[in-house]
Amino acid sequence: MRYTQMLLPTLKENPAEAEVVSHRLMLRAGFMRKLTSGVYTYLPYGLAAIRRVENIVREEMNRAGAQELMMPMVQPADLWRETGRYDKYGPELLRFHDRHERESCLGPTHEEVITDIVRRELHSYRDLPINLYQIQTKFRDEIRPRFGLMRGREFLMKDAYSFDVDDAGAEVAYRKMYDAYKRIFSRCGLKFRAVQADSGAIGGSFSHEFMVLAKTGEDTIVVCGDCEYAANMEKAVVKIAEIDNTEPLADLEKVETPGKRKVDAVCEFMGIAPSQLVKTMVYLADGKPVAVLLRGDREVEDVKLKNLLGVADVELAEDKAVFDATGVPTGYLGPVNIPIRVVADQEVATMRNFVVGANEKNYHLKNVNLGRDFEVEAVADLRQITTEDPCPQCGGKLELTEGIEVGHVFKLGTSYSESMKAVFQDSEGQEKPFVMGCYGIGVSRVVAAAIEQNHDDNGIIFPVPLAPFQVVVLNLGVNDGVMTEASEKLYRELQEAGFDVLLDDRDERPGSKFKDADLLGMPFRVTVGKSFTKNGTMEIRRRRDGFTEEAGPDAIVALLK
Ligand code: ATP
Ligand code: MG
Ligand code: MG
Ligand code: MG
Repeated sequence: MRYTQMLLPTLKENPAEAEVVSHRLMLRAGFMRKLTSGVYTYLPYGLAAIRRVENIVREEMNRAGAQELMMPMVQPADLWRETGRYDKYGPELLRFHDRHERESCLGPTHEEVITDIVRRELHSYRDLPINLYQIQTKFRDEIRPRFGLMRGREFLMKDAYSFDVDDAGAEVAYRKMYDAYKRIFSRCGLKFRAVQADSGAIGGSFSHEFMVLAKTGEDTIVVCGDCEYAANMEKAVVKIAEIDNTEPLADLEKVETPGKRKVDAVCEFMGIAPSQLVKTMVYLADGKPVAVLLRGDREVEDVKLKNLLGVADVELAEDKAVFDATGVPTGYLGPVNIPIRVVADQEVATMRNFVVGANEKNYHLKNVNLGRDFEVEAVADLRQITTEDPCPQCGGKLELTEGIEVGHVFKLGTSYSESMKAVFQDSEGQEKPFVMGCYGIGVSRVVAAAIEQNHDDNGIIFPVPLAPFQVVVLNLGVNDGVMTEASEKLYRELQEAGFDVLLDDRDERPGSKFKDADLLGMPFRVTVGKSFTKNGTMEIRRRRDGFTEEAGPDAIVALLK
């Protein structure tokens, strides 16, 4: 490609709106331009880098036996209603009506669409396993689009979905994707880590995130200095010490509590009689709220607490008030199988002693011991990990580091296939739901992450596999016949040898050509300048470490190989 023919608008100044290095450099190096918040046009240079990642992803997905297809971006609301996600997904799902008033949305992810395809087309265990993927534009109405391509509203994702006959099969599929992801990010030349993560909104039995290690990463990861353990901090939990109920705190005591008024007075969330409760706070003895219990049948308005604490979506079959140790009602505990989320720094021990409803009007039980009077499962026995904790795998010392989530693999299980009635006949003729997995890579984000990890004060330093061009040839004498002829010849020879080459044939001062070459970050620069006229040599310079060598024109191709 000739620079004079390419739309490659570089900027000398740092754009004010860019907060992180990759965003700054990508704007300056003419990768993309913003159309509106979180929505970009990819210009040729940026698109070429994206395509590099895309090709690596495609090759490794194909190698792992996945098949490429392409699904629609516009999706009908009714499909999403089948899994309950039309209402559950939240405002990141852009919903709209078409001209016939049909409710629709823009695909932020494609579990529903792929499950629909598979339930219609595949009916037998003989059709399985199968893994289908696409590389496609996603839309998520992110609350805070920022950092350029790192968190766009429109972005390019590779998403794959596996379907298996059973759990063991699904685990094999998961492992294959996990290995393919490792190859993909290694081939991209990135320093990354696969970390344990739970599956967030998508749901499922286990998952890993692939994190590019970079200071600007929005995720904190906890890694062990002594073993392979690495987990997303937000999601990493440790078991709270087993509840020891060999020594009860006190004996169970039935106390009279003219319930309703007392409850009203202390807990603002308990405005109505226990049987009608729609929302309940659970507090620790020191007054710190630890959970919100919800009844499934009413709208919840108190978003503040919901966000603060995380909500257990539960149905209260049999309600029980929670009191502090002095008998003051402070919250509410449902049936024993309700998961109560314990906030980070609280020990379950402080929650051991409760007062609960006695299943008798105006009476409660005092000194209820968790584990003795309640099954221990009544309390989620997990809390967020801290660096004070020993490594859960080897007991070693934990450290924190920042990462950019570039990929995510989930083992989904049967939640989608069950809710969408996606079934096949097994070898005994039995109907079974498909066991699923899903696997995403933020293709456009990978490019941003690569730049976060590979740059210096002068610009981008592309890992070779991601560079739009491996070599830039600078012709410093565009008005000089000899230099131009030599540049053109080298340009042709390099292309014939299989290199992607940019020939800087602009009539610009050398200084500004050097600056742009550094900014654009191609791995090698060959300068045809004064030393060519004088000694017949050209200068090869490696972008990453500035290593420079002079060589005659005939030696250049061989040196670059
Ligand atoms: P994040 O935690 O950054 O919001 P996510 O967990 O919501 O990402 P997934 O649903 O796991 O994202 O999607 C798969 C991949 O798509 C992510 O690992 C990430 O690389 C990429 N991705 C997600 N959201 C964006 C975005 N807004 N812009 C660019 N890439 C994104
Ligand atoms: Mg997200
Ligand atoms: Mg995430
Ligand atoms: Mg994710």
